[in-house]
Parts: sequence; C-alpha cells; structure tokens
Amino acid sequence: MSKKTAISEELAKRVETSRMIGADKSLVLHGGGNTSVKLAEEDIFGQQREVLYVKGSGWDLETIEPQGFAPVWLEPLRRLAMLDGMTDTEMVNQLVTNLVNANAPVPSIETILHAILPYKYVDHTHADAILAITNTPRGRELIEELYGDDVVIIPYVMPGFDLAKLVAKEFPLRRTERTIGMVLLNHGIFSFGETAEESLQRMVDLVRRAQKFLRDRCGAWACVGATWEPTILDSVDVVKLRRSISLSAGGAVIMTRQDDTGVRSFLQRPDLHQIVTQGPVTPDHVIRTKRVPMVGTDVEKYTENYRRYFSEHVDSARDPKTMLDPAPRVVLDRRLGFWSIGRSARDAAIVSEIYRHTIDVIQQAEAIGGYQALPSEDIFDVEYWELEQAKLKKNSSSLPFAGEVALVTGAASGIGAATVAALRKLGAAVIGVDVNPVVEQVATGPDYLGICGNLTDQRAVSAAIERGIERFGGLDMLIMNAGVFPKGKPIDLLPLSDWCAVMDVNLDAAFDLMNKACPFLALAPRGGRVVVVGSKNVPAPGPGAAAYSASKAALTQLARVAALEWGKLGIRVNVVHPNAVFDTGIWTDEIIEARAQEYGLSVDAYKKRNLLQVEVTSNDVARLIAEMCSSTFWKVTGAQIPIDGGNDRVI
Ligand code: ZN
Repeated sequence: MSKKTAISEELAKRVETSRMIGADKSLVLHGGGNTSVKLAEEDIFGQQREVLYVKGSGWDLETIEPQGFAPVWLEPLRRLAMLDGMTDTEMVNQLVTNLVNANAPVPSIETILHAILPYKYVDHTHADAILAITNTPRGRELIEELYGDDVVIIPYVMPGFDLAKLVAKEFPLRRTERTIGMVLLNHGIFSFGETAEESLQRMVDLVRRAQKFLRDRCGAWACVGATWEPTILDSVDVVKLRRSISLSAGGAVIMTRQDDTGVRSFLQRPDLHQIVTQGPVTPDHVIRTKRVPMVGTDVEKYTENYRRYFSEHVDSARDPKTMLDPAPRVVLDRRLGFWSIGRSARDAAIVSEIYRHTIDVIQQAEAIGGYQALPSEDIFDVEYWELEQAKLKKNSSSLPFAGEVALVTGAASGIGAATVAALRKLGAAVIGVDVNPVVEQVATGPDYLGICGNLTDQRAVSAAIERGIERFGGLDMLIMNAGVFPKGKPIDLLPLSDWCAVMDVNLDAAFDLMNKACPFLALAPRGGRVVVVGSKNVPAPGPGAAAYSASKAALTQLARVAALEWGKLGIRVNVVHPNAVFDTGIWTDEIIEARAQEYGLSVDAYKKRNLLQVEVTSNDVARLIAEMCSSTFWKVTGAQIPIDGGNDRVI
C-alpha cells in the first residue's frame, strides 16, 4: 500500500467516526466539537514530518468530508504551546501559516490542544451530560467521583492559546496509566485512542457514564408537567413581538416556536427567571443565544439590559463598537411559549436546537444541586472574541429578504413553485400552500414550510396562516397565485355550478386570504407586500373563458381596493398579468401542439407569439413578482404590470 493511500484510509476512518459523533445531538450541536488525527507525511524536500489533521472551522462534524480537516505541521504547533503568551489573533495567524495545504480551511481554535495531547486520535465534544454536571456548585467533585483516574480535569479557561498552554502544563503532570480522557469544566470532554474506533468508543463510554449518573440522581425530572395542555398560539401577539424584536435588531428576524412537555414544564418553573439569567451552559453558545434569554415580552427592557451588560464588561482595551445588535435570540414567555430568533430561518433553527438542549441541561443541573453558570466575565470574553473574529472576516452581504416571510399560494408547480424558489434565493423564508400534496416537497430546508390545504376551506386558510406564524413568526409578503383555468366553454353552455367553482377558487378564496392576512401584513417590520397574479385576460379577454376572465378581473379590482385601503397600513398591493406561460401544470405537450396546429404555427413559434417574440417562463414571472416585493418597488402600489412579451391588444 502506498503512503498516500494509507493516509487517505486513516483520514477516511477519521471522517467516519467524526460523523457518528456529529450525528448524536447529545454530544455536539451545530458546528460544535472537533476531532483530529496525527499522521506522518513527506514534505516537499522528502523529509518525514508529522501532520495534524484537525477539523476546519465552518465544517460541521455531522457532514464533514476529508477536505474539511485542515492539515497543519505538528512540530511548530507543539513549539507554540511552549511560548509564554500570545494573542488569540496571533494564534490563528500561526495556525494558518503552518498549514500544509494553502486551500485548507482555517484550523479549529482548539488546534493546539489537539496537537499537545500525545495520542493519534483525539475526539472532543460538548456533551450535554458533562455540561449538566459541571454547571453546578459541586461540579468538579462530582466529575472526580464519577470518573476517578480515568480523566484529567482542567478548570474552565476560555478556548484559545491560554487553555492550550494550561493543558500543555497540567496534562503531563496529571495523566496516569488509566487516563482515557479529559474533562474541561463548563466546556466539554476529550477522549483519545490509537485508532479512530478506540477514541470513539471511549467518548461514548465516558458520556454514557455521565448520563447514567444523571439518570440515577435526577429521577423523574423529565416527566414533570407532562399532563399540561399545549400552549395556544396567540398569533397577533406573536407577530407584534416579532415586529418589536425586528426593530431592535435593525432588520427583520425569523422567530420560530418549539413546544413540548419538557419546554412547558420548564416555563412553569417559579424560579425560571433566576435560573436562566445566570448564563448559557457553555460560552460556546453565547453568539447564537446571547448570554441570557428574554423572559417575558419587554423588548425595550431587554435591549437596555444588553447594552448595560456590554458597556459594563467592555474595558479600555476593547472597542465598545463591537457589539451584536441588542435584540434577544431566545424568548421564554409563560403565555407565548419558547421562541428562537435569527436573521434567517437557518439561524433561528440553530438557536432553537441549542436552547432546547440548554433547557434539559439546566433541568438536570437543577436536579443534582442547582444550576450555576460561569461568571458573566468568562462569557463576555468569548462573546467579544467571536465578534472581533467576525469583524475580520469579509462582511457577507445580507440578502434583500433576509429575515422576511412570504406566503405563496398555488406553490406546488408552475409560477407558484418558481416564486418559492425566487424568494428563497433572495433570503426569504417561504410558506407554500397548495391542494396538491407535492407542495410539501417543493423545497427543503429550515426556510420552507409546505402546507397541503384547500384555500376554499376557511379553516384551512386560518390554519395555514397560524402554522406559518408558529414556524417563522410573521408574514411580510403574500403572493396570490392559486387559480384554476377550466376548459373553454361559451357562456350559453356554461353551467352556473362551473362558474361558481371558478369564482370559489380564483376570487372568494383569495378574498378570504387577504381578509385574514391583513392584520399580520400590517405588522411587517419593513411594510407588507401583496402581489396578485392576474392575467392577460383582464385587459384582453378571450372567448370561451368567461368565468376565468371575470374572476381575474374581479380579483384585480379587489387588489386595487386593497391598495386604496391598505396604503395607510404600509401594505403595497400590485398585480402582474402574465400570458402564455407554458411551463405550468395546465399545459401539456399535447395541448400545446394542438393549439399550435390550430394557429398553423410550429410549437416554438406558437410559444413566442408576442411582439418581442420571446417565450415567457414561470421563472420570468417569478422574478418579476420577487422584484415587486423588493425595494425597487418601495413606492409603488396599485400598479398592474403585464408580463407577456408584449401584446398588441394589451398595449
Ligand atoms: Zn470545545
């Protein structure tokens, strides 16, 4: 076996067990934890040298790939740990300049820690059970009692050079024959091994022992409150809260609710405020969740407290301008429930996952002697360092619809599905509604919620809005696209029931949705927007489409009245009139071919039968709809724009 193959095999094993750790959310949450392997490699001069492959920043253990491990020359790393002192910024610079591969990601901030541990494989997690035990007044004693000589215990020091230096000094003194791991108080746990499997197995065993210890002592904490009724969603109050949080964050935010018996029993604790205002279970969470959640709904007071906390901890050596926006990231309210906040749906989902684990860790710590977080100075050190690091990175331009929520009807196909994609691409979280269950799979990810429902059912309309608010916290944009286009029939042969069926969907259901969405759109932090998908048939009707044309004309008139009424609420209402969009559900190849023949044209010529001689696609319409929601149309309401390649009857 060649040297290269041997390395890639060892790395493949490293990837495999890292992913197993990443998949277990009781060990590591989003982006947390890191793993490494030390391998011998030849440098460009033909010299054998040791290389540390350590998790690169920006990679998640659950989905890591071989290129997610940053290879760093090991010997300079060990020498760095001998230095008296170094700023963390200089340390990151040293990590990057000692990379073996210039294209590798930036090595983890805990790289030097991995380098100085004298084992081939090293695994590190922030296991919930370790955090629960160590965030208590007797944390250190309990860990000693639990593990004895099996682990070396290191007191809390902020991750970075100082921690690596402390471990470099203490670990060799305290390790014994029995040592298989290391516990960093209020931070996490390490395991080591000669093989990937050995290190993984030790991690699993060590954490299981901690979990059993908690189970034995905590008893039935998890069952408390299991009989309580589910919290009822107070939609208007939730959307009002999102509005004030958005204003304090300086931009729209997504707010997502998590509700289960564990959450409910936590929210009912009489000492809730006292417990949660102590701080996070580990400083690693501070940027995502902020140091403390907001208990209750007084955003102004929370904002003021955050500003005070920041100015109290910022000293002369630190720049007071480096501050996160003062808005909360977690809301705990007995009436409204547990909400997580982010500038995107993805961010909110990460906060939700982290704080849901925090709730369990705090409950467990309370059961074994009382939750006690690190002093706020230690938390602030990490918060400030991460903010400084974020400043050094290139400012990623935020997307135009970041933090905003759109509801698109008829989202399963055609213009609706294309609009879902266009809005998501610009940063919006989207609720897609359709009678076709395919709508649930039109998109995946934390920023999409597909709801199968019939909008002619009034309860389904209310339920769709409510589910959207529970998932994203509000409603900023409404795209009224759902509609039916029945087979052509002249008026004298059109049964009233057919006429009514078209009016039901194209007009009545649209009215009902606008009626119910209005109070929420009025609370949109950047102003509500409605785009109605009309039709060329409004300005230029065709024979045989009486019900369709009349319904779209009435819908357009409804939109015009809405523009008149809702201007004072800051809601803009505009209409697009597409024509001959053939890549939608209604048009099959056979129908298009038959139509083309009727006109004596080729299919291609038929599709481009307009002044510009272009084919209008669903994507073209979707882009126009998205643009009409954007700041380009900030001062436009009540407008109707044809998108038809130019039509002489419309012009
Ligand atoms: Zn760590």
